[in-house]
Amino acid sequence: MSTYLIKDARILGGDAQDVLIRDGLIAGIGAGLAAEDATVVEAAGQILLPGLVDLHTHLREPGREDAETVATGANAAALGGFTAVHAMANTDPVADTAGTVEQVWRLGQESGRCDVHPVGAVTVGLAGKRLAELGAMADSAARVRVFSDDGKCVDDAVIMRRALEYVKAFDGVVAQHAQEPRLTEGAQMNEGTVSGELGLRGWPAVAEESIIARDVLLTAHVGSRLHVCHVSTAGSVEILRWAKSKGWNVTAEVTPHHLLLTDELVRSYDPVYKVNPPLRTAADVAALREALADGTIDAVATDHAPHPGEDKDCEWAVAAMGMLGLETALSIVQETMVDTGLLDWAGVADRMSTRPADIGRLDGHGRPIAVGEPANLVLVDPGARRTVEPSELASRSRNTPYAGLVLPGRVVATFLRGVPTVIDGKLA
Ligand SMILES: [Zn+2]
Repeated sequence: MSTYLIKDARILGGDAQDVLIRDGLIAGIGAGLAAEDATVVEAAGQILLPGLVDLHTHLREPGREDAETVATGANAAALGGFTAVHAMANTDPVADTAGTVEQVWRLGQESGRCDVHPVGAVTVGLAGKRLAELGAMADSAARVRVFSDDGKCVDDAVIMRRALEYVKAFDGVVAQHAQEPRLTEGAQMNEGTVSGELGLRGWPAVAEESIIARDVLLTAHVGSRLHVCHVSTAGSVEILRWAKSKGWNVTAEVTPHHLLLTDELVRSYDPVYKVNPPLRTAADVAALREALADGTIDAVATDHAPHPGEDKDCEWAVAAMGMLGLETALSIVQETMVDTGLLDWAGVADRMSTRPADIGRLDGHGRPIAVGEPANLVLVDPGARRTVEPSELASRSRNTPYAGLVLPGRVVATFLRGVPTVIDGKLA
């Protein structure tokens, strides 16, 4: 295998050091390292982080390969600095059997760009009626540990309880898309001042908060492990803070877009801003940033949701929900958390690598940058500025809400087990 010597990188934002990568592992860290056989990567001024881990992506394969494939999604992930992503189960067919999750797992390994860990559906066909083959998916080659009906809420309390009980057998976690279905029938955007003015059907914060409240109580009752997907309201943060204060095994994620964008953008009626859960208010954004900074929210997860043009370039009311995220996530986190002084780079490593890897029970990811550890790494130039050009994205879809925006930071290189998947900001 090849050998790389990263020169003068600031590990987790600290002092500049050299890092030697050999045979897939970190072989040395120090000042003035030399290795004759190594390819040198000059990294002065750049930050070295553990490879990012995403708990929440939609890669659309099988079934909607016109929007994304595992291969194009893995390319987008690598360019975004990710070395592992979790692919949600709401594909066609749904990833609710060992066969389907093994197929997704294999496609990720074949891509070679990023480890793709399939999320297993909680219920058969995401229908919310019968538990899927959770144990068979856990025992499969894909080794599934995260289960979610994401896109839909497991709203039946008995089914949710059974799922929480079942996953305990293999240290799994149920990742809930918290959306009370009756309270959100026909909902188009956040319920509030803007929805009132626009006359669009509102999506109340309580629809999210009531499910989270129920689920943390259920989780405590059965002694299991819950992960809350894409937390979007200040009230949800308060419930999570309370649940954690009780010592319950509850974790949560926030998306980059909920850290930056608000429902004011819906005034444009541009469906690129239509997303589930919806963009909320500035007060919610402030609460989410604070919660990510203090650890109440454990992780950033992209909810990368590619859609082809025909599903987005249409009227607001009929447009699909979701936005791209993999290739811009780190820049949005830098802008909202690092450049604002809320989080340092070690904090970014924790929220975007260490904790998500732990929640997903991944081996080899989210590890410390230390000799003997797997060389899953990302080099970031925090001083770079770039304008987001949708046509330049590696994703097969174009529905980024950041088109034309100038964002801070650039992923310069990504290493997956010592092999560059991205070098000089381009796919290797
Ligand atoms: Zn969701």
